[in-house]
Amino acid sequence: MTDATSFSRRSLIGFGAAAVALTAAPRVWAQAAAPAAPAGPFSLPKRAYEAAGLEPHIDATTMDIHYTRHHAAFVAGLNGVAKDHGVVASTPLQTLLGDLMKVPEAVRTPVRNAGGGHANHTMFWEVMGPNAGGAPTGDVAAAITKDLGGFDKMKTDFEAAGLRVFGSGWVFVTVDKAGKLALVSKAGQDNPLMDKQMPLFGNDVWEHAYYLKYQNRRAEYLKNWWNVVNWAKVNERYAAAKAGTLTI
Ligand code: MN
Repeated sequence: MTDATSFSRRSLIGFGAAAVALTAAPRVWAQAAAPAAPAGPFSLPKRAYEAAGLEPHIDATTMDIHYTRHHAAFVAGLNGVAKDHGVVASTPLQTLLGDLMKVPEAVRTPVRNAGGGHANHTMFWEVMGPNAGGAPTGDVAAAITKDLGGFDKMKTDFEAAGLRVFGSGWVFVTVDKAGKLALVSKAGQDNPLMDKQMPLFGNDVWEHAYYLKYQNRRAEYLKNWWNVVNWAKVNERYAAAKAGTLTI
């Protein structure tokens, strides 16, 4: 059994409980239930670890809700748009986010929000992992030293940028085709692609990412997050970025 299978089973148990609750609710609730969202073309990515895999730094309940509810809602929103707008269904998300002005105006905002959310979270699950953390390795370590002043300075600047995000948003390290790194923060679910930059890794500073365990202590969450960064995966993304094959 793969971890992803296990995660799905956990989700089904959760949805099963919700179904039981609905059955017991007044009939009007059942009638008001929204129709099922289209199943595609966008879908939740498989994850390489279980919800508890990032304990104790990120708790299993947060991971479970974040993946099966928050990320799933972005996927459902994007599929809802794609259902009535063929260009959204047929264009790679990376292309849509990279040139939002070409997206039909009527759906530009939902593509920006739900599409950005789908892209951001897909990257987020990928760059984290169990038994991770520690100092960066390989070419990424060298690039951090060269472009961002070294690991300690990068962490300090990254955490400060995450703290400065007012309300909900993200902090990213981006990479260009030459392998040069830069630190950026974004509001909402905006993605660096909207500025023609590619996210190498990034952290979610929406309250849903940390509130159950850290409450208002975003600084502590940002500091602990380094314990779950999968530098081997970040190096894979870095190599792909330089080869021009990194996709979101
Ligand atoms: Mn999130």
